[in-house]
Parts: sequence; C-alpha cells; structure tokens
Amino acid sequence: MTLSRRNLLCQSMAAAVAFIGCSGRWALAQEPQRRREIVVNGKRVRTVDMHAHCHIPEATALASYKENFPGLVIGPERTKEMDEQGIDVEALSINPNFWDKLDRDLQAQIVKLQNEKLAELCTKEPERFVGLGSVTLAHPDLAVEQVEYGVKRLGLRGALVGGSVNGVELSDRRFDPFWAKAEALGVAVFIHPQGTPELEASGRLKGNGVLGNTIGNPLETTIALSHLIFEGTLDRYPEAKILGAHAGGYLPSYIGRSDKACETFPQRCTVALKRRPSEYLRQLHFDSMTFTAEGLRHLIAEVGASQIVMGTDHPFPWTKTAVDAILNQPGLNDDDRVAMLSGNAFRLLGMKA
Ligand SMILES: [Zn+2]
Repeated sequence: MTLSRRNLLCQSMAAAVAFIGCSGRWALAQEPQRRREIVVNGKRVRTVDMHAHCHIPEATALASYKENFPGLVIGPERTKEMDEQGIDVEALSINPNFWDKLDRDLQAQIVKLQNEKLAELCTKEPERFVGLGSVTLAHPDLAVEQVEYGVKRLGLRGALVGGSVNGVELSDRRFDPFWAKAEALGVAVFIHPQGTPELEASGRLKGNGVLGNTIGNPLETTIALSHLIFEGTLDRYPEAKILGAHAGGYLPSYIGRSDKACETFPQRCTVALKRRPSEYLRQLHFDSMTFTAEGLRHLIAEVGASQIVMGTDHPFPWTKTAVDAILNQPGLNDDDRVAMLSGNAFRLLGMKA
C-alpha cells in the first residue's frame, strides 16, 4: 500500500472512530470504554499475549497454597485490562508450580482439577482465553498423560513447566518422554522460571531489588535453555515448540559465548551437537519482555522476528505497553509486527490467526 493510500485509510478511519496516530506504517484505532483494536497497515490484527497468568482457587486450596496477588483469579477486570491494552487473546498459565514437592497423588489431584477448571474458563470466553495447562513434571509418567489428556480431551493448547524440577534440569533423560509427547502433540511448552532457590539459599539475592525475581528468574531460564541446547535435547526433539519466558533470560544477550565455549574447551564438551549453540535460538521461541527498544532489537537480531511472541506477565504489572512496544519498534516491517503480535503465537498454539 502506498503512503497516500494509507493516509487516506487513516483519514477514513479517523472519521469512523476516535483515532490516534496516523503517522508511520501502522494505524491504531481506539474508542474510550471499548476494546482497543489494533490495526496494522489497514488490517485488524488479533493480538495474543502468550505470557499471562491466572490461579484456580479450588486447586491452590488443595495445596494450602496462598497467593494473594490481585487479579490472579480471573474476574471481569481481566478482559477490561486486556481491552485497554489492545490484547485480544491471553494464553493463560498457572505459575508457580506450587505442587512440585507434594505427594504424587496430591500433585495429580491438583493438576487434574486445575486443568479442568482452566479449560472451563477458556470455554466460557473462547475468543479471549486459551489455556496452557499444568503438569506434574516431578513424575514424568503422569506428566505425559496429563499433557495428552489436557490437549485431546480438555482443549488446552500446551503446558507450562518450570525451568527445573526440584533441582533436576529439563534436559535430564527422565523428561525425554514428556518432550517426546509434547513434540508429537505439536503443542507449546512454556518454560517459566521458578527462581533460583539454590542461589537464594546462599543469601546472595537478599536485600533490596527483589533480586530473587529480577535476576533469579531470567537466570533460571538461561540455565534451563542452555542445558536443553548443550545436552542435545533440542537435537532429539527438533520439532518441540518451546517458549522461553522473559525473552529467554540472558541467553540471547550473550549467545556468542556459548558458541565459543566448546571451541575454547573442546575436551570439556562431550555431547556432539548438530549445530552451533546460537543456531538453536531459531528453533526456540521467546516472549517480547525486554522493556526497551534496544533490548527488543537485539532479541530480534539474535533469534529472528519469527520466533518472538508478545508477553506481558499479566496480571503482574511489569508492562502495560507490550502491544505498543512492538507497534513502535523501529526497523520492523509490517509483516514482522503482525507476526510478533499475532501470527507466531497462533502458530505456537496450533490455531488460525
Ligand atoms: Zn510469568
């Protein structure tokens, strides 16, 4: 579309609705009190937030787990906030995995109830919510059944797992059946950190700055993804649809060191990989939670726009401008904007945009 054609379109839209911003390559229509609708190059785009959480009170009660953060239990304010931010669909997941250390039967009970209630919630508002279910990865045999049941019977679109499970890395061979099942089902596995309890125990993350979260969370994702690369898990399950939280932690920022490590110390690299570590970034997916245009630019440069989905961590108020960050990112073409706002997520979820 030519610039003049686009401006014409802008003008006609301005006449139809309250309108903001006709400059640049995208247009945004907004009416107060109504859903903010995102339009890119004249086309309405259904935006997806792949990193959004909720809690199911009936399931947390089974574990006597308490998390009182406002907005985690889905109520009418959830869609109102989504409307304000221009988010059409949230892929809801439950975090943390508060059941990981409980008795096997209780874990199974919690996950079953949680997945059923999550599916119910999504069924009530299918235009707004899809579900990434929970699994008891501490018991991989159960996790395999849960992900299959969740996807085939409950209509869930994947699962959230921690960055490690009770101190065991996701690359451990005991989890291979889970990766194999997720790959066969073609559903998304969202790796969401549970902090770094080992480091917290040392006391180094104490003090001001919420460092257990600020640093501990992206650090766990960095460790988890590094093991999946270096232990050959991504070679064994090349079609697994893995999404790393918080822009993959620190891994994409310093992936060059991962490439050099085995060249520098070949005797300490005993697993033969099919590709250079940096190339696996283009097999993984990452949310857009970088907070700066420069951070997002670098993430795109390292992993490719095709691997990035929008993420907010809603209802935790890390950002209310995830949509705008992508719309306003310099140097992107419209196809990439649409892919990051919408298409990549629908592909991960196995749905039509
Ligand atoms: Zn989160």
